[in-house]
Amino acid sequence: MSEERSLNFLEEIIEEDLKNGKYKTIVTRFPPEPNGYLHIGHASSICLNFGLTQKYPGYTNLRFDDTNPVTEETEYVDSIKEDVKWLGFEWKHERYASDYFETLYEFALKLIDKNLAYVDDISAEEMAAMKGTPTEPGKDSPFRNRSVEENRDLFVRMKNGEFPDGVRTLRAKIDMAHINMLMRDPILYRIKHAHHHRTGDKWCIYPMYDFAHGQSDSIEEITHSICTLEFVPHRELYDWLIEKLEIYPSHQYEFARRNINYTVTSKRKLLQLVNEKHVTGWDDPRMPTISGLRRRGYTPESVREFCDRIGVAKRDNMVDVGVLEFCVREHLNRIALRRMVVFDPLKIVITNYTKDEEILLSENNPEDENGGSREIPFSKEIYIERDDFMEVPPKKYFRLAPGQLVRLKSAYIIKCEEVVKDAAGNITEVHCSYIPESKSGEDTSGIHVKGTLHWVSVRHAVKATVRLYDRLFRVEDPTDEAGDFKEYLNPDSLQVLPVVYAEPSMKQAVLPERYQFIRKGYFVLDRDSDNDNLVFNKTVGLKDAWAKEVKKG
Ligand code: ATP
Ligand code: MG
Repeated sequence: MSEERSLNFLEEIIEEDLKNGKYKTIVTRFPPEPNGYLHIGHASSICLNFGLTQKYPGYTNLRFDDTNPVTEETEYVDSIKEDVKWLGFEWKHERYASDYFETLYEFALKLIDKNLAYVDDISAEEMAAMKGTPTEPGKDSPFRNRSVEENRDLFVRMKNGEFPDGVRTLRAKIDMAHINMLMRDPILYRIKHAHHHRTGDKWCIYPMYDFAHGQSDSIEEITHSICTLEFVPHRELYDWLIEKLEIYPSHQYEFARRNINYTVTSKRKLLQLVNEKHVTGWDDPRMPTISGLRRRGYTPESVREFCDRIGVAKRDNMVDVGVLEFCVREHLNRIALRRMVVFDPLKIVITNYTKDEEILLSENNPEDENGGSREIPFSKEIYIERDDFMEVPPKKYFRLAPGQLVRLKSAYIIKCEEVVKDAAGNITEVHCSYIPESKSGEDTSGIHVKGTLHWVSVRHAVKATVRLYDRLFRVEDPTDEAGDFKEYLNPDSLQVLPVVYAEPSMKQAVLPERYQFIRKGYFVLDRDSDNDNLVFNKTVGLKDAWAKEVKKG
């Protein structure tokens, strides 16, 4: 699907490393914190990490960065695994930072023994006040020069649960005047009497991100540890800890976060939308989560194509959601089954049609020569869209109007003969005649018409419900506006059409299948469907409706 593209900067580094024999195997990891569902930004990181070891010899681990017991849950772990698999990737080892709590504790003791870590008793406020600023050095804590023995004793007692939350920390002993603020004696461990989703109540001290991430990389012998740009200042500490602990030298590389417009890509913010019921759940089809995109009808191929297309950058930028929509539209055009569904019906009576019914054939997908065809019943009464008829049409209106001819898709040419109205003047039905020699595929009428309409036979129509989605937010970057980001939610992001009329083959609709409702867009069956009612979600329109809006001005 994708055209040849040049190497990204990580591929260049890896090719160099393989060429000069630095590594024979490349090991990467995808390290989510299980505190929410994955979103489209994570998809970039997944495609990058797994993509590299598909391209080069090696493998990728899935590592849950579960060092924060308060926000993490098993539900999130399960959803993350499902999403990575759905995207089409297989991890070599499933690991958890919490698997390493014992080893990390040993590493901490090693630093204490080397007089490179100390137990500090000052409060968080005092610590912040003594940290200095980027232009002023910080101040040493009065506890900085405790003896190795005393540090060891206190740290063991921290682990044994002798102290309440927050009264002591373990800090690295580096340099309170370091130009990199993160090197000013960073905290390695804090006390937190909290239940952990995997280790239960075994631990009451938990390692900080910086004392878990790089060490976990090292334990797993990750060669290329890829993270996002906000971790650039952490790299110095990452390297310092590996060097002092004398463990496997993993290397950290940073790439730009990928965010898309008209939504938010932060688990914390998405959680607020879920908790405050602005959406129906993490997999609400309006959500930028992988599970939301899946329910919306996105295919793994289209998400991977999107990640590939936007590539890997070294500077943060916002990607237009139109690129994502383009990718899914392109894929669905190739695989979706064509079906006819009328959203807002206008009844047409074909006055000169004398048969009871007739079975017509229509191809499933003109883009797929092996796609086959399906049967569609035709009868005297059909529905077309109300807006495909105009009593007083403007010039160049090629749809149905008094005296005008149109083709019914895969059926006949009809001509509008009479408009029927109720006492209030509303159009109730339109009477037409049909041209028997104009049947699609065997047309000998010699008549050419410009408009082709979709339709369903009234008697055979299947009722269904359709959900139409629009952007979740009204502005490109809701987090960049004044006030709370939720003030910028689009109030019209969901429109439900409780009853639409589908051709009868839709009774057989199944979940993995994708459909193009002709002239309407791409749709997928929702899991809220049951035997009595089918519910379809709109994945994306046939054209970029927003690009048109912008042009109109
Ligand atoms: P969030 O703010 O949404 O919670 P996070 O970075 O805290 O994101 P993690 O679970 O820590 O989420 O992320 C797992 C991996 O995915 C990390 O390597 C992280 O850098 C990467 N990642 C997260 N968000 C993005 C994004 N928008 N673009 C690219 N990579 C991302
Ligand atoms: Mg995080």
